[in-house]
Amino acid sequence: MSAERGTQDGGWVETARVFFALWPPPEAAQHLSDVADVFAQCAGGRATRRTTVHLTLAFIGDVKLERLADLKRAARHVRAEAFDLTLDHFGLWHHKRIFWAGCSVVPPALVELASALRTALQAAEFDVADARRNFFPHVTLVRKVMAPGTQLPNHAPLSWPCAHFVLVSSSLSAKRAAYRMIAEYPLITAALSLGEL
Ligand code: ATP
Ligand code: MG
Repeated sequence: MSAERGTQDGGWVETARVFFALWPPPEAAQHLSDVADVFAQCAGGRATRRTTVHLTLAFIGDVKLERLADLKRAARHVRAEAFDLTLDHFGLWHHKRIFWAGCSVVPPALVELASALRTALQAAEFDVADARRNFFPHVTLVRKVMAPGTQLPNHAPLSWPCAHFVLVSSSLSAKRAAYRMIAEYPLITAALSLGEL
């Protein structure tokens, strides 16, 4: 998970490229990667694999390994409710050549989770990418789309229960990024709240 980066004084520091995300259960991941495969067959590009389908909550980028414990601690302080995520439409960003799935009604609990996470990370002095922009939840299904005029599919909505979020490290290579889960954080479910009484 680590990479070595040169520093200004000529030394080397080990870093990890990290982000926080929601990770779907296997059936939802399979369904979404099937949609991605079919779209990529028509439109070209690189379909997201079943094992890497996710929704990014906060992208941090390179972090020194010695700061990872602080990062994990900051996320542990986030208190947010569990919710169901319903993906019910698709879109294509022409400028980024990305085909994605999103929700027409964003669950308030998802907005609160992303906001609480962002706040906790910034309070711990981590830079969150796009922190000034509104959070736009989406699942990237195909990258580097070749034919942006391709008709978007029309599928029945897909829901997945979100009861935890994860911290992931990403190792970039010329071919594709390899992800590794490094921590998992529960969201508050009714069962959990009752258990705490
Ligand atoms: P590749 O870059 O090889 O296409 P990838 O985008 O899956 O692979 P990363 O670049 O490590 O891998 O990104 C991990 C996740 O974070 C992805 O969901 C990506 O869309 C998101 N992400 C990456 N960079 C940013 C950024 N600057 N701002 C917001 N989200 C980002
Ligand atoms: Mg990327």
